Amino acid sequence: MTSWQPVIGFEVHIELATNSKMFCGCPADHFGKPPNTQTCPVCLGLPGALPVPNAKAIEWCIKLGLALGCQINLTSKFDRKNYFYPDLPKGYQISQYDQPFCHHGELLGHKITRVHLEEDTGKLLHQAGKTLIDFNRSGVPLVEVVTEPDFESVQDSDVFLKELQSIIRTLKISAADMEKGSMRLEANISVRPTNSADLPNYKVEIKNVNSFRFIKKAIEFEITRQSRLLESGVNPKQETRGFSETKGETVGQRSKEAAHDYRYFPEPDIPPIQFTTEQIETWRSQLPKLPSRIRQDLLNLGLSENYVKIIAADEKMFNEFMKKPSKANADSIVNKRPSKSESSFPSSEDTRSVAERVIAANPKAIADIKAGKIQVMGFLLGQIKKELGNIDVPLTQKLINVIIASC
Ligand SMILES: [Zn+2]
Repeated sequence: MTSWQPVIGFEVHIELATNSKMFCGCPADHFGKPPNTQTCPVCLGLPGALPVPNAKAIEWCIKLGLALGCQINLTSKFDRKNYFYPDLPKGYQISQYDQPFCHHGELLGHKITRVHLEEDTGKLLHQAGKTLIDFNRSGVPLVEVVTEPDFESVQDSDVFLKELQSIIRTLKISAADMEKGSMRLEANISVRPTNSADLPNYKVEIKNVNSFRFIKKAIEFEITRQSRLLESGVNPKQETRGFSETKGETVGQRSKEAAHDYRYFPEPDIPPIQFTTEQIETWRSQLPKLPSRIRQDLLNLGLSENYVKIIAADEKMFNEFMKKPSKANADSIVNKRPSKSESSFPSSEDTRSVAERVIAANPKAIADIKAGKIQVMGFLLGQIKKELGNIDVPLTQKLINVIIASC
C-alpha cells in the first residue's frame, strides 16, 4: 500500500499597525469602530482620487523582509490586481506582482518566496439574510508573506507560523492578533507518494483561518481527505476550501483562479520606488534582537530550555531577567509570573482565547464569581473543556481568575 506525504506551503497576511491606511490619511486601526466611519474618496475608490503610499508601511514591510533573511529589490513597484468582489470598491486591489519589496528569504530552514505590500479590502457582514459592507478596513496596509511548499508536517508548520508571529511582534509592526484578523493564515496543501520528489499536479488552498489550532486541524483533515481520494484512484480537485470550525472539516468554495485571470499591470498612479543600499542597511541596523537570537543568548547564559521558552516569549519577563541575568533571578521571575501579568501566563494561546470567549459569553457566571459563588467556576471550566478536550484544570482556573480580574 502506498504511504502518503503532505506538501504544504503558506500565505500569511499581516495588517500593519501604522497610524494611517496604505494610500490615504484615514486611521488604520479599524477594529470595533462604527462601520464606514473611517473612509475617504481614496479608500472608497471614488473616481479621480489618487493614492499616496504610506512610507512607514513600506519601511515596516522591508524590515520584516530583512528579519526573514530576504533580499530587497532596490527598484520596486505597485501593481493593480483586477477582480470583482463587493468588498473591493475600485474593482482592483493595489498589490505587488513581479517586483515585490522582498524575496528569497529563509526561516527555520523553510524558504520564503516573497514578502510584499498591498491594501486590505472592506469587510462583508452577513446579517439576517442581508449582506452589509463596512469599508473601514478598506486600504489598511497588508503585508503578505509567501513560503515555498517545503513543509512536510503539521508540527513543522505550527512551529514556523508561531515563530513568524513572534518575529512580527518583536518588530512591533503588528499585533498579529488572529482573533482580530490582524494575522490571517492560508495554507496550500497537496499529497504525494512518500517515495516521490515531484510536486503534485494540483493544490488545495485553505483560506482565512484565524487560529493556530484551526490551521492544524484543517491541514490534518486535508491530508486524510486527499490521501483517501488518491487511494481510491481519484485525483483531488484544484480548489479553494474554507475551514468549518463547528464541523472541524474543510468545505469546498470555488475553483482557483490562475494568476493571469487578475490581469495584473503596473499601478499608473504610483511611480516605481527606488531604494539605496545605504537606506536598506540603515533599516537592517535598526532591527531589534530577534527571537532566535534572544533564545540563544538565554541558553548561553545557562538557562534550561523550558525557562528559555517562557522568558523569551515575553518581552517584560525578558527585560526583567536581563537586569540581573542569573539562575536565581530566572527562578523568581518564572515563579511569580501568573500574578504579574496575564500576558506572561503559560497556557497556550488557544486556551486563553477560548477562555476569553467563554467568559465574554457568560456575564452572569462572571458576576456570580465576583460575588463569591466560586462553585460557578466548575461550569466555566466545563465550557472550556468542551472546546479543547483535555485542559490543565488548576492552570486554567488561574487563567480565568486573571482574565476576570482584568475585566
Ligand atoms: Zn481613506
